[in-house]
Amino acid sequence: TLSSRLETVFKSLRGRGRLSEADIDATAREIRVALLEADVALPVVRAFVAAIKERARGVEVSQALNPAQQVIKIVNEELIGILGGQTANIRLAKTPPTVILLAGLQGTGKTTLAGKLGMWLKKQGHTPMLVAADLQRPNAVNQLQVVGARAGVEVFAPEPGNGIGDPVAVARDAIAHARRNVFDVVVVDTAGRLGVDQELMEQAADIRDAVKPDEILFVVDAMVGQDAVSTAMAFLDGVGFSGVVLTKLDGDARGGAALSVAHVTGRPIMFASTGEALGDFDVFHPERMASRILGMGDVLTLIEQAEQAFDQSEAEEMARKMAASEFTLEDFLNQMLQVQKLGPIGNLLGMLPGMGQMKEQLAQVDDRDVNRVVAIIRSMTPGERRDPGILQKTRKERVARGSGVTVTEVNQLLDRFAEARKMMRQMAGGAGFPGLGRGKG
Ligand code: GDP
Ligand code: MG
Repeated sequence: TLSSRLETVFKSLRGRGRLSEADIDATAREIRVALLEADVALPVVRAFVAAIKERARGVEVSQALNPAQQVIKIVNEELIGILGGQTANIRLAKTPPTVILLAGLQGTGKTTLAGKLGMWLKKQGHTPMLVAADLQRPNAVNQLQVVGARAGVEVFAPEPGNGIGDPVAVARDAIAHARRNVFDVVVVDTAGRLGVDQELMEQAADIRDAVKPDEILFVVDAMVGQDAVSTAMAFLDGVGFSGVVLTKLDGDARGGAALSVAHVTGRPIMFASTGEALGDFDVFHPERMASRILGMGDVLTLIEQAEQAFDQSEAEEMARKMAASEFTLEDFLNQMLQVQKLGPIGNLLGMLPGMGQMKEQLAQVDDRDVNRVVAIIRSMTPGERRDPGILQKTRKERVARGSGVTVTEVNQLLDRFAEARKMMRQMAGGAGFPGLGRGKG
């Protein structure tokens, strides 16, 4: 899957100072394969990878993030960008009713969506009405009536002998009915077919011309993968649409359809369906979908927190000291406090991808650990903090007493510090986030 592949890439990057051209190429290659495996269409993959490479090259070496985190951040930002950036809203007509036309292949979930939208609109304070303009299948009208009843939303359906068989007439009558009866949003359900064909497109276009929709939503099953692109293009060409609705996201859809359709059509994904029940529905959140495609859980929250907590000027000073090997216990203490600002260390590390195997180690790093370190260092004099070498037996005993720990624990801390310092010297010049991930080490 995309997530596991990216995890492998990021794991190999983790801990390195700076992205070399070879690193970037390796990363790009993996991302490319991963996206293809996730059913993202080839032209989209190409454009995406090119954008990632471009940005990875220009990346400034941040003190708050290590290179792996920086790449994750770039990939995530590009994904969000393609997915439309922000959550899109229904454009309401200046003069009601607002008309929303649903289009898409058969079985994608249009009729179900009509009910979901109806219920959602009602919650937003609207008075919606659903229109049964799918007269293709014998029980399509009835299906919408059932869905509408469940949602508690009015359904406009052709009366027997009155325009039955002509969805265009039904749709037109429905708008007039909505206007007379002050329904302010009208959702028009239409017929779909198993594949794209001329008749289907013409009917949908005729309905469009009759009702002059404010929004045309193209409904696409997230499970179809690559096929989504050609279907989307056919609908864009034949009917046109202003937004996309992704359905069946509850399945094991790999997210490729979302990315491809959004990129190829340039239309925002507006809603997401995640089940058969009317409540399994929400506005589409690009950033959540990006996380899903990445499979990164809360890693982005972690990155944001790290960036905020790690004050920039402090970071620069720290980098300078590392390079000059001037890193002291005082700095070590400051870092501990920075890390502590981020919240419980266990949570923090748990948010990183690929940390599963490290669970055991993580369990050993907890806040008490941090607190103890802070107490020990605070019990030292400034001179001792600058130069721990002067800490002989009696000084250590004083520090241990002052911080309520044993001399052994003071020694453990000093060992840890020495080790950290060594590591920092190695990482100097581009290191990421020292202080993180060093427990028992
Ligand atoms: P239409 O032909 O486009 O009107 O599609 P329907 O609304 O009749 O839905 C086709 C089938 O897909 C039905 O069995 C729905 O219950 C199911 N369905 C619709 N949306 C979703 C969804 O988001 N998740 C799942 N699992 N099933 C869905
Ligand atoms: Mg239907």
